[in-house]
Amino acid sequence: MLVNLAEMLSRVPLARMAFNVTSVEAFAVLVDIAERHQVPLILQISPRYLDDLGSDFVRKFVIPRLQSSPARFTLHLDHAPSPSAIAAVIDWGFTSVMYDGSLLPLDDNIRLTQEVLDLARPRGVSVEAEIGHVGGAEDGAEASRLQLTSVESARAFVSACPVDALAVAVGNAHGLYQAPPHLRIDRIRAIRDAVRVPLVLHGGTGIPLSDLLAAAQAGIKKINIGTDLKQAWLKGARRGVAQYQEVDQVRALMREEIYAAIMKYQVLLEL
Ligand SMILES: [Zn+2]
Repeated sequence: MLVNLAEMLSRVPLARMAFNVTSVEAFAVLVDIAERHQVPLILQISPRYLDDLGSDFVRKFVIPRLQSSPARFTLHLDHAPSPSAIAAVIDWGFTSVMYDGSLLPLDDNIRLTQEVLDLARPRGVSVEAEIGHVGGAEDGAEASRLQLTSVESARAFVSACPVDALAVAVGNAHGLYQAPPHLRIDRIRAIRDAVRVPLVLHGGTGIPLSDLLAAAQAGIKKINIGTDLKQAWLKGARRGVAQYQEVDQVRALMREEIYAAIMKYQVLLEL
């Protein structure tokens, strides 16, 4: 079944894991884990992968598959660049959306996030927004553009736009970390105390598990993992091509690597 993000994040002891669907293989493994272990999962798709997988595939296969599953899922649009990109996926059946206005001036980010709230709330769809800016390889941003989220801007943002989840920049980044990340646990705690909205950590891949657990205890309620699943796909493909001639054998190794990449987070998945 599909539930919205607000429901998925309510009464969660630590944090919920959100995995980016970056391949058909990743989708199959994620659904299998959720159903086999009865673990609630947030599956998210970025606009780029929505194009890559194809909107027909998502509408006619991904969404009905999740709707009819006995496991609980949230299907979330990651990093939507505009309210118009969001309107379409709400019609298809996504139960959560992220509008990313993090590079805009605060006033514009508030205005456009409010537009998204007006679109989503009447349909029961949750909204994630971003304040500060999580940079990184995904959007080609320089590390120097990473802006830590300030407590004051988070407070101002949430009082103007009461979103269901707020992505924060607290030393995290997208893609592969060039140097070991240093998460600002103190900042997470201070923002959590100021806004009382579930906080989201983007760029979870490469952050040590102990830091993810500390972040969850400090107020992070959704942890995004994308790069890990792409790396696992590639590792499985390389191993498979080196060992086998048959496509199905190669794909089995890809799924094996993706499974192992997800299971690294077993503690947070509460399995
Ligand atoms: Zn992100």
